[in-house]
Amino acid sequence: MFTMIRAIKGIKDILPDQLPRWNVVEGAAHRLARCYGFREIRIPIFEITELYIRSIGGTTDIVEKEMYTFNDRDGTSLTLRPEGTAGVVRAIIEHGLANNPATRKLYYIGPMFRHERPQAGRFRQFNQFGVEFIGSTSPKADVEVISLLWRFFSTLALPSITLEINSLGQPPERQRYKAVLLTYLQGKIDRLCGNCQRRMEFNPLRVLDCKVMECRAVTESAPSLIDYLSTSAQHFKDVRAGLEDLGIPYSLNSRLVRGLDYYSMTTFEVTSSSLGAQNTIGAGGRYDGLFEVLGGKSTPAIGFAVGLERVISILPESAMPLPNPLVFIAGFGNRGLPASFRLLEALRSKGVTAETDHYGSSLKNLLRLADRLGASFTIILGDEECMQGQVLLRNMYTKEQETIPLNSAPDVLANRLKTPNSP
Ligand code: ATP
Ligand code: MG
Repeated sequence: MFTMIRAIKGIKDILPDQLPRWNVVEGAAHRLARCYGFREIRIPIFEITELYIRSIGGTTDIVEKEMYTFNDRDGTSLTLRPEGTAGVVRAIIEHGLANNPATRKLYYIGPMFRHERPQAGRFRQFNQFGVEFIGSTSPKADVEVISLLWRFFSTLALPSITLEINSLGQPPERQRYKAVLLTYLQGKIDRLCGNCQRRMEFNPLRVLDCKVMECRAVTESAPSLIDYLSTSAQHFKDVRAGLEDLGIPYSLNSRLVRGLDYYSMTTFEVTSSSLGAQNTIGAGGRYDGLFEVLGGKSTPAIGFAVGLERVISILPESAMPLPNPLVFIAGFGNRGLPASFRLLEALRSKGVTAETDHYGSSLKNLLRLADRLGASFTIILGDEECMQGQVLLRNMYTKEQETIPLNSAPDVLANRLKTPNSP
């Protein structure tokens, strides 16, 4: 006897019952991203490890402990992508996409991999929808990207969502602030968690988004980065005015430093209070320094990434279209069975979702099967109906039956079911 093999912990199957939700969410992502002028890009699922270390930063959770890294047969270190931006920027530089105005707004949808402790809303393989808008320093680019994020969640009618924004300033402003923050934290070092104590010197900003209660208490009254903005103060003001102008509600959150090193200036995050501890459904920011870090020409950019599993877990029923109506064909007998198989094909050729059973069971069993499959109509076609050139059409909700000509059955049903709900 063989033992059963299960999927890896934290890595989930997406089963057929869940797929309509995925189709709705991914459909909205494709539709809205295109509507905002973004074009799809598909980047590899694994890359040279160095790409992620250099772009995400050595003292981040992702690089320190979450990457799936392995050696290729020739010893090259490779990593399963933990996020999308690094790969997209690598592709933009490699293919010169920044030179073409038609390829400066890109989006992607696909799986990411992080070795985290699996729990509700946190998986080791999860899916993100993300966009990257490159080449513009304008605060309007920030507003466009945030507006798309907000519209995506609003279109899906996600409950209790909140947008928070912050500015991390440009590197010199941040440097100045880091010194102030470090002095503040040093005075309270005994109260910080081990992780924060260790990272504080290299990256005091990380302490601001530590989830440990005591660390949060310490940073509650820490100096706020926004008060130290100079060169980028106007940009942040303009972003805020732009959001207000479009009626997008937001609040300021000075803790919002994001878990990746490449961010600068605007950062933002959307949370839903309908979720538990892992309540961030999408987040992003400006990353004007990343292109240079990856060996490209300095290029401003801003983007976001959305966690699709978390979105799907709070997607309301009202966002779901009705499923495509199904027609079940119950055929019997030497004539009825072959005729019903031809009818099945004729219905499908007209775009009608149709199903049958090949075992020639009793009518009672077939009707039960049609019910379990959720059929809207059942067509009954035995030898007798076949000889009369007719079929019985049974409405599975009202149980009413009528007789219609066999030849015209495909057209009659195609017309009656003319409400295509394809995802
Ligand atoms: P978190 O604070 O939840 O760890 P993060 O800052 O690591 O999030 P990002 O790298 O900004 O997350 O990724 C963007 C989005 O992807 C998150 O807001 C979240 O919705 C989703 N996400 C991140 N990690 C996971 C995961 N392990 N499982 C499921 N979704 C995730
Ligand atoms: Mg994380």
